[in-house]
Amino acid sequence: MPELPELEIVRDVLRRRLVGRRITEVSLSPKGGPIVARDLTGHGFREGLTGRSIESVQRRGKFLLFGLGPEAGPPPLTLAVNPKLTGRLQLSGPAGKKAGPVHVTLHFEAPTEELRYVDQKRMGQLYLTAELAAIPTFAEMGPDALEVLAETFRNRLRRFRGEIKGVLSREQFLAGIGNAYADEILWRARLHPYRKVGTLTSEEIDRLYAAMNVTLRESIGKVEAAMGEDIHLKPRDFFAVHMRGGKLCPRCGARVSEITAGGRITNFCRTCQPGGLIRGL
Ligand SMILES: [Zn+2]
Repeated sequence: MPELPELEIVRDVLRRRLVGRRITEVSLSPKGGPIVARDLTGHGFREGLTGRSIESVQRRGKFLLFGLGPEAGPPPLTLAVNPKLTGRLQLSGPAGKKAGPVHVTLHFEAPTEELRYVDQKRMGQLYLTAELAAIPTFAEMGPDALEVLAETFRNRLRRFRGEIKGVLSREQFLAGIGNAYADEILWRARLHPYRKVGTLTSEEIDRLYAAMNVTLRESIGKVEAAMGEDIHLKPRDFFAVHMRGGKLCPRCGARVSEITAGGRITNFCRTCQPGGLIRGL
């Protein structure tokens, strides 16, 4: 569920609140813990984390990367959190209400606080690793959507086939955009989500690139304002079309369309985003 704009703010909050702090204890839930927590070091997930300090918090695509200082000598390790569709992180005092089923908890001392990994469906993953390339699919990720240059965007797009929405939300093309923000970006670019990439004109590709940048950057500000320190929240009430099927398009006033295909909901405005004659009827 969290995509680039949310994870930017989660990273900022966690960087400010956790860097320099020591993990005193790690707990895994009996059922979900072993499913979401993956140890790639061979020395154990809890064993590898306990006693280490958080030295950095970064984001790469839809991964949050916690750089861990050595407990007693090298090597430095990374805890990479990929919340996928249903995972979230929550920072709370030990008595704070849980945002959902908690599978992994990192405990910190002074002030006593915990970082919880909450996941309704246990779809996400937390990898403990000495090498990022050891994380499945990590090395295949394309450039970050917030950093990709216009020329790289255009060149990479030519290498992909299929419908533009699917390509835009593929990590191999660009890292960070999922189902929700793909809808928002395409609405802003006035492009039908089921247009084939190969049919886009260079003017349309430039419009798409510009729309992606504006949408992501504006959304980061809105997410920050709505989320505050509550990093487990998913503020999305500012969306123009995503999850707004049947409501009015904020640009033209037509009803927002909704199509469900392959378990994914797509929302768009047929008036502002014409075309897509094959599937988008
Ligand atoms: Zn419209």
